[in-house]
Amino acid sequence: MSNLVTRRDLLRKSLFSVAAVGAAGVLAACKKDEPKALVCTDTAGLTPQEIEARNALGYVDKAPDATKKCSGCALYNPPAAASCGGCKVVKGPIHPEGWCKSFAPKPA
Ligand code: SF4
Repeated sequence: MSNLVTRRDLLRKSLFSVAAVGAAGVLAACKKDEPKALVCTDTAGLTPQEIEARNALGYVDKAPDATKKCSGCALYNPPAAASCGGCKVVKGPIHPEGWCKSFAPKPA
């Protein structure tokens, strides 16, 4: 067998390179279109007492236990669109994936 590089080999390698660069470009373009992650930590509109109560209940945007999320809590007020919701107990924006010590599961 010869060690010479054939035109066919060169063509195959160059096509593979073009395909790889194209795939990387498509992936980069997809990443740009990803929606921004929802953040519900803006307490600018709350009073110091409301912020203190929110902190005392240990509210976090990401529930430590995936089975106990605000979206599954009876006290959660879901938003109309994909944005932060509200809560009957904790003032301020509430993330559907959030959690606090007052979590009360929705009735089955
Ligand atoms: S009570 Fe707590 S767990 Fe339930 S919706 Fe409000 S912040 Fe989320």
